[in-house]
Amino acid sequence: MDIQWYPGHMAKTKRLISENLKLIDIVIELVDARIPVSSRNPEVDGLVGGKKKIVVLNKTDLADPEINKLWEQHYKDAGQPYVFVDCIKGKGIKELIAKIKQVMKPVMDRDKKKGRMNRQIKCLILGIPNVGKSTLINTIGGKSTAKTGNIPGVTKSNQWIKVSSDILLLDTPGILWPKFDDEVIGLKLAWIGSIKETIYDREEAALKLIGYLREAYPEKLHDRYKIEFDENTTDLEIMDKIALKRKLLARGGEIDYARTSEMIMDEIKKTTFGKISFEWPMEQL
Ligand code: GDP
Repeated sequence: MDIQWYPGHMAKTKRLISENLKLIDIVIELVDARIPVSSRNPEVDGLVGGKKKIVVLNKTDLADPEINKLWEQHYKDAGQPYVFVDCIKGKGIKELIAKIKQVMKPVMDRDKKKGRMNRQIKCLILGIPNVGKSTLINTIGGKSTAKTGNIPGVTKSNQWIKVSSDILLLDTPGILWPKFDDEVIGLKLAWIGSIKETIYDREEAALKLIGYLREAYPEKLHDRYKIEFDENTTDLEIMDKIALKRKLLARGGEIDYARTSEMIMDEIKKTTFGKISFEWPMEQL
């Protein structure tokens, strides 16, 4: 991730988002389905204020389907409209468009009664870097994307993308800053490959990842490295076993922790382990 967040930057982003919010009817908050809470900025709710909002969980192709089901229930219970998508394959996009219409229906019906016909629904995508905002904009716009050109009252740099006859999307997404100050959130962002390696300790991130995988996905950890471990094996011992299996040893024959950590972090980012989620709703209670 290239963006370094500092207070001035956040203030500017907040201002930009609140300016854009004036133009729109509904916010599409994009998060990563593998870490729906850690990949969002909780300040978004304050920023969005009274606007309607749909949570869109992206990269479902990488997330654990069983954990997705728990998140579905979580959003249902909270009365929060949500959609699961895979922006690369375009899965869930039709559902998203239907959901936008459904959420906006009461407003549209009210406006119709007031005689405001042919009103268009204006949407804004918000999310932290790397959750797939640009990919979603391209996918939802489709091939026939006809930019509608400048509309009076809209900043020149903003263009509207026509999603359907009655839905317009602002072509510039709102970029929120992730919550770096929370160590666990930072780790999860590192595991999904959203944080530049220079800003976290790779060996610590890899060791904590082993700690997570042995609890949540022990069979995947076993199958991937063909190693045996039980509740008495420490995380570091598991790392040693992985290093020995992969022959990641330094000259004197001792474990090369730097290379082992790099390999593990690389494999988790490349999703070699299969579909994995890194947080589930119960954790958030
Ligand atoms: P942005 O920073 O929020 O605009 O994110 P991008 O649209 O640039 O996407 C970040 C990365 O995630 C890119 O490498 C995309 O190809 C990838 N990506 C986006 N959507 C998906 C998805 O649904 N599944 C997978 N596997 N990757 C995705």
